[in-house]
Amino acid sequence: MDGRRYTLRNATRALTPTGGFLKGFAFTLNPYVGCAFGANRGCPYCYVRMLPVARAESGAWGSWVIAKSNLAELLELELIALEASGRARDAAVFCASATDPYQGFERRLGLTRAALEVFTRHPIRRLLLQTRSPLIERDIDRIARLGDRVIVSLTVETDDDAVRRAVTPTSPSIERRLGTARRLRARGIFVQLAISPMLPNHADRMAALAGDCADRVVVDTYFAGDGSSGRRSRALKMGDLYARLGYEGWFEPGAERELLAALKSRLGKDRVLFSRAGFTAV
Ligand code: SF4
Repeated sequence: MDGRRYTLRNATRALTPTGGFLKGFAFTLNPYVGCAFGANRGCPYCYVRMLPVARAESGAWGSWVIAKSNLAELLELELIALEASGRARDAAVFCASATDPYQGFERRLGLTRAALEVFTRHPIRRLLLQTRSPLIERDIDRIARLGDRVIVSLTVETDDDAVRRAVTPTSPSIERRLGTARRLRARGIFVQLAISPMLPNHADRMAALAGDCADRVVVDTYFAGDGSSGRRSRALKMGDLYARLGYEGWFEPGAERELLAALKSRLGKDRVLFSRAGFTAV
C-alpha cells in the first residue's frame, strides 16, 4: 500500500472564476483537491504541490485527496444560474487545473462522470477535460454526447516510455494513453495532445505518433509554462533530476525547438500550439 487516502467533503462551489494562465476559460472545475498521481514521486514537476491548495491536508502531495462529494449538485445550481444570466452559451470550463479528474479514485467515486451528466443537461460553449488517465474511456459515451462542445486534452509528455518510467513512474504508459486518444477520436471527440511539460523525446517519432492520434497538439515547457519562467521547476529540483538521469540538455530554454519543428512539419502549423496560447485556445 502506498498510503493514499481520500476524504469525502462538501464543497461550497463547483466552478471557480479563472484568469491568468487560463484566461479564455471563464471557470475551472476541480472535482478533487489533491492528486493521487503525485504519490510515490509521481509527477515530480507538478507545481500544484507548491500552491496553497497543497496544504489543504497534512501529508505529502499525492498521499491524500479530498473528493467534493456534492460537486454535481453544486454544478447544476451554478449552471442554472449562468443560464438565467445569459452567460452559459459563452462559458468555457477547464477541468481540471489543479488535479486530475480521472485519477484512480474517480473509478469508485464518479464525481467527474456525474459532472458530465450535468453538462449534457446544461450545455456551455466549451468543456475541456485535461487528464493523463485512460480511465476517461469509461465516460466515452457521455463525452461523445457533448459533441463539439468538448475537447479532451490528454497529457503525453514524451514518446519514450523509458523516460516516462524514469520521470513520472506512477503515470500510465505512453502506449496506453495513445490508445485512449485513438479511441476517443474514433468516437468523433476532439482530442488535443498536451506534450506538457515536454520531457526528453525523439522529435520525429513523437510527431508521427501525434499526427496519428490527435486533432491538435499543445507543447509546453518548464520555462514557458510553470507560471514563473522556470523558477518553480528549479525549486522542484527538476534540473537536478535531469542531471541524475543524464538528460541535462533537456532542461534548457529552447529544448523544444526540434520537436516543434517536427510537429509543424508533420501536422501543419495550425494544429501545433505552444504554451499558454495553446491551453487557452477554446
Ligand atoms: S496528474 Fe497533474 S495535478 Fe496530478 S500530480 Fe500529476 S501534474 Fe500534478
